[in-house]
Amino acid sequence: MLIVLKPDATHAQVEKVCAEVKKQGFQPHPMPGAGRTAIGITGNKGPVNPLPYEALPGVEQCIPVTKAYKLVLREMKPEGTRFKIKGTEVGGGKNFTIIAGPCSVESAKQMTAVAKFLKDQGVHILRGGAFKPRTSPYSFQGLEDEGLAILKEVGEKEKIATITEVMDTAAVEAVEASADVLQIGARNMQNFSLLKRVGKAKAPVFLKRGMSATLEEFLLAAEYVLHGGNHGVILCERGVRTFADHTRNTLDLSVVPSVQKLSHLPIFVDPSHAIGKREFVEPMAKAALACGADGLMVEVSDDPDHALSDGAQTLSFKGFERLLQELKPLATALGRKIN
Ligand code: PEP
Ligand code: MN
Repeated sequence: MLIVLKPDATHAQVEKVCAEVKKQGFQPHPMPGAGRTAIGITGNKGPVNPLPYEALPGVEQCIPVTKAYKLVLREMKPEGTRFKIKGTEVGGGKNFTIIAGPCSVESAKQMTAVAKFLKDQGVHILRGGAFKPRTSPYSFQGLEDEGLAILKEVGEKEKIATITEVMDTAAVEAVEASADVLQIGARNMQNFSLLKRVGKAKAPVFLKRGMSATLEEFLLAAEYVLHGGNHGVILCERGVRTFADHTRNTLDLSVVPSVQKLSHLPIFVDPSHAIGKREFVEPMAKAALACGADGLMVEVSDDPDHALSDGAQTLSFKGFERLLQELKPLATALGRKIN
């Protein structure tokens, strides 16, 4: 169940409702919104009796929840989750936020060149993998701790926000100390101990859809993070496995409006990992903007043809400039703001 408070409910009234939830043996999860606060209830085994709450001052209504997930539900925050990453606002319907950078951090020189280029282009969030989840143990595994140090140094020096993947619980502390956003990769979407751990982190979490995850599994993975207390979650569609083999994965853009109907969390699209071919990144990025995604994650580097991972899907600087030129008039027509 979720308890919706009146728009003018006081902090003391919210606290009182939370105390009553605890008294009944459940956990309250207050989520302040633009217009009002909603309190999600977890820890119940069956339906929750609304009577003890309905009578409390400040309570507008109690909504029964029939879905397995609760805290990610759109009803918790009808206006949508919106937060800032180093000053760049994500979510909220108007923003179309671009996260870009190489697949892997390869050197300080490379990351500096990419950071400078992206800042010139008006992009505020730099990606780069230090710990790489590779199918083969013989493929480049990332620069690991050295990669993290490079990302931190370049982010600070070039004044650009950073995001990088964290593959296991033991690395969360180090990654959080080096980057502004924690990425959970597709292969770890259901690594429940990792989800619980990043739920305790302060940094926002960029959660990629597992390659065979249903929408419910995807939302339940996000539910773990919110349940841990971390409400700064961004979802990302990065392609799923199907019979189709003309692209690396099949980009499931229909998940964008589906997520937006059910959940208040921002949903991004990563056309690079979905498609696997740089020539198709631009049309699918445009499609992502057109269907209402909150942003993009795109791989771009200074020398994609010699990249240590995912070069075939990585845009060159010229390719990225062309992409932005294509996106800008589309964003204007749709009333969106690229940031
Ligand atoms: C990545 O973004 O670097 C990555 C490995 O993506 P995914 O987890 O979507 O495969
Ligand atoms: Mn990659």
